[in-house]
Amino acid sequence: MSIVEKDLHLALKKYFGFSKFKGLQEQVIKSLLSGNHTFVVMPTGGGKSLCYQLPALMQDGTAIIVSPLIALMKNQVDAIRGISDKEGVAHVLNSSLNKTEIKRVKQDILDGVTKLLYVAPESLTKEENVEFLRSVKVSFMAVDEAHCISEWGHDFRPEYRNLRHIIQRIGDNIPIIGLTATATPKVQEDILKNLAINDATTFKASFNRPNLYYEIRPKTKQVDADIIRFIKQNSGKSGIVYCLSRKRVEELAQTLQVNGIKAVPYHAGLDAKTRANHQDMFLMEDIDVVVATIAFGMGIDKPDVRFVIHHDIPKSIESYYQETGRAGRDGGEGHCLAFYAYKDIEKLEKFMSGKPVAEQEIGQALLQEVVAYAETSISRRKFILHYFGEEFDNETGEGGDLDDNVRFPKKKHEAQDNVKL
Ligand code: ADP
Ligand code: MG
Repeated sequence: MSIVEKDLHLALKKYFGFSKFKGLQEQVIKSLLSGNHTFVVMPTGGGKSLCYQLPALMQDGTAIIVSPLIALMKNQVDAIRGISDKEGVAHVLNSSLNKTEIKRVKQDILDGVTKLLYVAPESLTKEENVEFLRSVKVSFMAVDEAHCISEWGHDFRPEYRNLRHIIQRIGDNIPIIGLTATATPKVQEDILKNLAINDATTFKASFNRPNLYYEIRPKTKQVDADIIRFIKQNSGKSGIVYCLSRKRVEELAQTLQVNGIKAVPYHAGLDAKTRANHQDMFLMEDIDVVVATIAFGMGIDKPDVRFVIHHDIPKSIESYYQETGRAGRDGGEGHCLAFYAYKDIEKLEKFMSGKPVAEQEIGQALLQEVVAYAETSISRRKFILHYFGEEFDNETGEGGDLDDNVRFPKKKHEAQDNVKL
């Protein structure tokens, strides 16, 4: 180990109590510490936060972390404060602070106490904040959830588009690190272009989830019965069933209950207390199944979800990957079963029809990939990874035999029949 490597490991142990770096973390941190623009693409749970937290703690000056969600920022600030003896080591700068609090944050930065300053992009656009940050020592800028910069991502935030301009005003030579779990080449191009970091050293982890089994079944009128049968064959295991609409969530949850399955609904139309309650019941295993819209998932960290069923096909491969990715976090089995009918694609198209043309075009392109995925007869894992710009050989790659197409190769005419159902 070189001296730098030793220091990094010591710091990792000292601040986080970990004895080993995860995946590409060490290389990422070395790149950033050498002053390079750095770009990190790692799946959710890959350990991206540490890639900027550790170098921020190790360096002089304050690292500015741009993050889109106040809740995410608060979690991280609390965690960092927990490992330091100085409360001022991490701060959030946003519109919820009063004058006294803002003064305190600024003083801690000026005193060199604050190593991480979390800001929402809209706070960064405020002239007084830019002026202030221009005058202090900034170690680097981190743009977390960097896909928010791209219209091709699932979470476009227009305010992210101004970041480059603001970063430039804060300082000319500040290293930038962008981080995302979105692996599509289009989104990545957008990020590099918009942050003007085309020269960034890029680190991309594999998106393969070797323990997940992928399966698509034709969606017929009997879909509810099919789902009930599947769940009963997997009784006692935890699972999530995703539906497109709140109404369908309610109906299906009831149907499952009537059939003796311990299931609850979850969607944004339920009040906060009910949602929290249902989520807890799932985590505590008082119930087995959550029937949910996409409102369920962000930050749900149940390691032993054994199946994810899509009653309705999602609107992009990325959403599908994120949602199925909630299965088998512990490395154990995870069955991902999606029901597909072309008429559901038409339904999704209809939803988009009121949107601006540019948005519709993007939505269409994403949907066509979903159709291709559902109708393909090649290895599903290979398809997904190819979509994310990753080569995968399912003869030799890990998990290469875990999907319906590889296990039960279809004859051509059968594959075609399925599509029409
Ligand atoms: P991401 O932002 O990529 O989704 P996080 O930064 O939230 O991932 O990290 C996911 C989990 O991995 C966290 O619980 C974190 O504590 C843990 N983790 C990160 N780095 C390490 C490491 N080197 N060793 C052990 N656990 C780690
Ligand atoms: Mg993260």
